[in-house]
Amino acid sequence: MFDVIVIGGGVIGGAVLRELTKYKISVCMLEKENDVCMGQSKANSGIVHAGFDAAEGSLKAKFNVAGNKMMPAYAEELGVKYVNNGSLVVAFSQEDLKTLQVLKARGETNGVTDMEIISKEELRALEPHISENALGALHAKTGGIVCPYGLTIAAIGNAMDNGAKLYTDFEVVDMQKQDGVFTLTAKDGRTEQAKLVINCAGLGSGKIAALAGDSDIVVKGRRGEYILLDRESGDFVSHTLFFTPTQKGKGILVTQTADNNILLGPTSEEVETGNTDTTADGLAFVIQKVNAMVNNPPLYNTITSFTGVRAYSTRHDFILEESKHVAGLLHCAGIESPGLTSAPAIAKYVVEELVSKHIDLQKNENFQGKRKAEYFFKQLSVEEQNALIRKDPSYGRIVCRCEQITEGEIVRAIRENPPAKNIDAVKRRTRAGMGRCQGGFCQPFVAELIAKQQGIPFEQVTKNGKGSEIVVGVSK
Ligand SMILES: Cc1cc2nc3c(=O)[nH]c(=O)nc-3n(C[C@H](O)[C@H](O)[C@H](O)COP(=O)(O)OP(=O)(O)OC[C@H]3O[C@@H](n4cnc5c(N)ncnc54)[C@H](O)[C@@H]3O)c2cc1C
Repeated sequence: MFDVIVIGGGVIGGAVLRELTKYKISVCMLEKENDVCMGQSKANSGIVHAGFDAAEGSLKAKFNVAGNKMMPAYAEELGVKYVNNGSLVVAFSQEDLKTLQVLKARGETNGVTDMEIISKEELRALEPHISENALGALHAKTGGIVCPYGLTIAAIGNAMDNGAKLYTDFEVVDMQKQDGVFTLTAKDGRTEQAKLVINCAGLGSGKIAALAGDSDIVVKGRRGEYILLDRESGDFVSHTLFFTPTQKGKGILVTQTADNNILLGPTSEEVETGNTDTTADGLAFVIQKVNAMVNNPPLYNTITSFTGVRAYSTRHDFILEESKHVAGLLHCAGIESPGLTSAPAIAKYVVEELVSKHIDLQKNENFQGKRKAEYFFKQLSVEEQNALIRKDPSYGRIVCRCEQITEGEIVRAIRENPPAKNIDAVKRRTRAGMGRCQGGFCQPFVAELIAKQQGIPFEQVTKNGKGSEIVVGVSK
């Protein structure tokens, strides 16, 4: 029996779970997949938006601006790389130039600072590859980039280090409330109980509400396809470049990522399900738009493509409220963009304003918010590398050649909170398999390490959970 159960291990559930551990209460997270960060939080643009996009007075505007301010310290505490690269909304017509004024005014109303409209010459000085057709831009200096899965995993790991429990492969399929206690049942029959439930189930948050008899939450999906370029092209642009938005949204962007890749996308297509396939048409559209934004994009350095599915509410704003039908069921639903940016601010609000109405929150004096910085071996000095290898020789064995990730880092990811149970989980924590060869060389070695550390046969190691085993058998 827990005080609070959080459903959904995305960036919102993770931030909320960690915020809860700042108090003397028992908390747990239920996640339907084999690992955390398997929904929108793993496949998005990773932009820490400045906050000029969202409509004045909306929850999106409020939490975007607050989250943007909190993000540098939040990422630092969690040992995750954040870069304040600034964003540029580029105008390609007189109409666009007028829209930039509207965006700037909206940003000022929302509380965004450090914005200016710059000329095409100033734009070119900032981004030499920008198209000759660009006429100017809105420069938002508070825009940034962060690793979205790094942030999610670190928050959940830090919450676990502070006492939170995590149950994966726990798809909530039933919710009952009796005598003030919620009983949540998983597909496989396991149950967990709590006094309070926080619904952070992303695309599944409408279904979770419905399980409790609340039909107020309607969440739909909108796919976005991306192309990722190798780190070799990482300096092609330094800011995040947006087209001037239209009724249809922010459109395709060109940006550096926090790990120094170049990311192109996303498209925008309404969908019924969480289908994450990429399509030839979608990727062709991305390329067409990128070619309009910048000259000679280094597409020859493409290493992968992927799709993320935005979970948007039919209210077109974040839903952060207690259910009107079921007391003690709190919704964090319809958290589409700028949800990543807003996560720390949303978590603070949900705990301080919503959870506190039900539970007398006493500070946990033992809370340790600082997570050991996620150091990458290759970023250490030669002296530091040698010292680490002397302490643990596994740091002297490179497993992923493209990203230069050592055995020591992979073993650590398998052991530390939240433990990496499969190959993709190791990839999201260490970057092994994220480079040019996309795991072509290191995958068998990573699988071997997982099998050894978990004490399971090689044929039970999966790519991303049950049904994705990578070999059918091992010859003797
Ligand atoms: C294409 C795209 C681009 C984006 N770009 C940006 C950006 O640049 N900047 C920004 O600020 N935001 C961006 N966003 C938005 C941001 O990614 C989301 O707002 C954020 O990730 C939402 O996090 P979440 O925790 O609510 O949802 P999710 O990350 O989807 O997590 C929900 C979790 O709930 C689990 N779950 C679902 N049903 C159940 C169940 N029945 N039982 C147990 N678990 C369940 C899922 O498996 C999942 O792990 C983007 C989103 C997308 C898709």
